[in-house]
Amino acid sequence: MMKKNWKVSGKILCFMLAMSFMLSGCQFKEKLKSDENKVSVASGSLEKQVSDADGKKGKYSLYLGEMENLTAAGEEVLSCTSNKPEVVSVSEDGVVHALKKGNAKVTAKVRPSEENDTADTRVYQIKVKKKGMVYPVFFMMKGEHLDLQFSLKDVHATWKSDNEKIAKVSKKGKVTALKKGKATLTAETEDGKTYCCSLQVTKRIKSVIYLTFDDGPNRYTTPKVLDILKKNNVKATFFELKPAKDDFDLTKRVIEEGHTLALHGYQHKYDIVYQSQKKYHDNLDLLRNLFFKKFGVWCTISRFPGGSSNTISKYNPGIMTKLAGKLHDWGYHYFDWNVDSQDAGGARTFGDTFKNFKNGLAKGRGNVVLMHDYDKNDKTIDALDQMIRYGKKQGYTFLPITASTDEVHHGVNN
Ligand code: ZN
Repeated sequence: MMKKNWKVSGKILCFMLAMSFMLSGCQFKEKLKSDENKVSVASGSLEKQVSDADGKKGKYSLYLGEMENLTAAGEEVLSCTSNKPEVVSVSEDGVVHALKKGNAKVTAKVRPSEENDTADTRVYQIKVKKKGMVYPVFFMMKGEHLDLQFSLKDVHATWKSDNEKIAKVSKKGKVTALKKGKATLTAETEDGKTYCCSLQVTKRIKSVIYLTFDDGPNRYTTPKVLDILKKNNVKATFFELKPAKDDFDLTKRVIEEGHTLALHGYQHKYDIVYQSQKKYHDNLDLLRNLFFKKFGVWCTISRFPGGSSNTISKYNPGIMTKLAGKLHDWGYHYFDWNVDSQDAGGARTFGDTFKNFKNGLAKGRGNVVLMHDYDKNDKTIDALDQMIRYGKKQGYTFLPITASTDEVHHGVNN
């Protein structure tokens, strides 16, 4: 396998949802490929994987977030377009960026060398795998932090930011959002791949409500909660357990409607999950891996059964202190709550749930509201619409928790 340093001076357009990001100055190593079934076109020290006699078609399989230069040394790219810019974006000089799992066709007009003024048209088939960088395109609010992650094992990458005034990043990938604007973060891996992600830093929203629902999904409550959220155009966060065999469609709906899928655990049994650090770690990994396999969503946000302040785990002294200190090293974030609807406790009617919500809110902070997505939870279902209308009227913004949301933690009691 040959490698070559490659400098890209052009601009790369990334598209995701309705947003487009201008990137510039990405420097990367190109990983070269060979395949005995393909005709290898050599150009200088570079080899490209090209097949088909007439059209010079190339096939690439890229990890999410990975960049690849389609052309070889000395070649000039006259134009380059992608038929699915939300899956693979292209720069004018032939660098592709894998943004979303799927397939795309990139068409490039290339002049092979300076002496040669006939342009070739090449078509590249590009497959983007679901594994790779977890956040190829993302938003952060000013002041937030984020640990960049790979859904791949043992990736050792060195990160840098093209605009340290907007967002700085540590070599290991801890991002701090400093100022409103756009930045491009690139990583060089030890095996010669280049990953890139586009970050947009937005202004800080001060008074936020993060609605959270634990213990779902279930067939009675989840659809009703989702309908109310949809009607009000509000995104929330669902801390789920392993869905029952027939309930995966409910989790799918949570994802498709733009909510954050988060981990409560593969199971909820206190006497099992807090037996050891390994038991708890496995309880998160099993569910994260299951959701990734089923839906391609890499969940890093978690909530301890009973919260980090629970005392039910005291049968294993000190376990919560140990776990709270370990979760970040394991690649997880954890959220307790600072507003308790008490819908699994003291609230007897939907009026109680609403009152607990209303009395718990405070301006100028992120309000993480604890609610439950258990079977027949009419106390929350019947209060939810009123909660949202009240929150909006009071000037709060409803947001889903993201991997860069400031974590809300309780004091640990064990
Ligand atoms: Zn729970």
